[in-house]
Amino acid sequence: MRTTEQGVSLFTSFDPRTGEAVGEHPVDDAAAVAAAVAAARAAQPRWDGLGFAGRKQLLDAWRRLIVARAGELIDLIRAETGKTADDARLELVLVVDHLRWAAANAERVLRRRRVAPGLLMFNQAATVAYRPLGVVGVIGPWNYPAFIPMGPLSAALAAGNTVVLKPSELTPGVGKWLAGTLAEVVPGPAVVHVVTGFGETGAALCRSGVDKIAFTGSSATGRRVMAACAENLTPVVIEGGGKDAMIVDRDADLAAAADAAVWASMSNAGQTCVGLERVYVVDTVADRFLGLVRDRAAALRTGDRPDADLGPIVMPRQTEIIAGHVRDAVARGARVVLGGEEAVVPPFVTPVVLADVPEDSTALTEETFGPVVVVNRVADTDEAVEKANASRYGLGASVYARADGPAIAAKLKAGMVSVNAVIAFAGIPALPFGGVGDSGFGRVHGPDGLREFSRTQAVTRQRFRPVLRPNSYRRPAGTMTVLIRMIRITHGR
Ligand code: NDP
Repeated sequence: MRTTEQGVSLFTSFDPRTGEAVGEHPVDDAAAVAAAVAAARAAQPRWDGLGFAGRKQLLDAWRRLIVARAGELIDLIRAETGKTADDARLELVLVVDHLRWAAANAERVLRRRRVAPGLLMFNQAATVAYRPLGVVGVIGPWNYPAFIPMGPLSAALAAGNTVVLKPSELTPGVGKWLAGTLAEVVPGPAVVHVVTGFGETGAALCRSGVDKIAFTGSSATGRRVMAACAENLTPVVIEGGGKDAMIVDRDADLAAAADAAVWASMSNAGQTCVGLERVYVVDTVADRFLGLVRDRAAALRTGDRPDADLGPIVMPRQTEIIAGHVRDAVARGARVVLGGEEAVVPPFVTPVVLADVPEDSTALTEETFGPVVVVNRVADTDEAVEKANASRYGLGASVYARADGPAIAAKLKAGMVSVNAVIAFAGIPALPFGGVGDSGFGRVHGPDGLREFSRTQAVTRQRFRPVLRPNSYRRPAGTMTVLIRMIRITHGR
């Protein structure tokens, strides 16, 4: 941190691979946040006035610009997170696809539509529409600094809102790049404003009077966000992380399941909210499955090298949390299949595979957010479902089974489940994304995500004056008797 001659406090973002400075950004205080919200509010009526078609045109232009300058965004994501080139490329693909979907589908999902007025009000035309909220605050994390904010960002913008984005202090440059490229294609006042800083800047955004907050981060910070939002009754969407489980049934394609388990737990060095952290495999196939997982995980390359499969742990203090979870599991009798505590060599962690881990170990109860996967054996899928559901988190899950996949999926307490695939739901922009329990509530992506950033408005319009007028003191005598008779005829049997 340093203070300029003008008295502005600046903080630096670093490349976690090398510790080199990437950029300097202001620590925005409550006054700066208020100014950003005011500017976003002033820009909102014009943005709303463009209508769905006008906004789609500009959001499509933004998408094309992002694609044209993809290399720049990939480099910046890599500089601020250290993630591998392929992990950054995947993030870019998701960004583009989700932006396309929100722009293309907002009108279909949110435009005014007619609903049946029913018997009592048959003289009314009834419609429902989804109007923009106004200004949406987006508080983003560092693990997917472009893809995760793009969910609420694209939906809020397509629905007619303007946005104030608070990127993580670790990845402010990516947030600014997104807002900057959008400003290049949207004429007039900016529709996305970025505020940078630490937790206090985020807290100021929660208290700023924005019309909704979309938060992604830890459940603990999610609780603080919700408490701050409660002061103004500001609604919130919370994506608070997960402890995703995979169930492997006895008839599963074990090679496919092992391949998926390794990718889902190790990609982005395990720093994925829907990353796999727990596997429950049916006893009869457990040894074979575990052998495949160990061999595949052992072949991965970690470090600051061009062919790396795993990059660094982005948040410095996270390495101690990861080491602590491994230590706790081993102390309680877990079997180290690959890695162990010595796998943690900050800022890198090589793949860790643990087996037979007691269910009350922190490696199974808390979000590890590193390349660590626990494989526990179970008698059958009923036991697997019971253990998978025992977590206080409920974000994503996966099932590998030939016969019973969908039936097992239906029993899981998770916002999203993939059968014979992993994390496929996150790559389908039409599917809602979000969880239950400590994983939060509300949804981004898909039609639910678009409605999340809209206020529902019901409108009735009288088409003709009815003979029976239940909602008038001047109703004809006998109106209520007739209505009761009608109800008996229509509902009595
Ligand atoms: P946080 O939950 O603390 O941070 C997430 C975002 O919230 C950041 O932009 C952060 O700003 C901001 N923030 C922090 N404090 C406040 C506050 N009081 N009011 C409003 N906004 C606030 O996550 P961390 O980065 O500290 O990571 C901790 C753990 O969270 C990880 O170990 C991991 O388990 C989990 N996590 C889950 C993610 C997910 O995808 N669900 C993503 C990232 C982390 P700033 O960065 O400036 O502090």
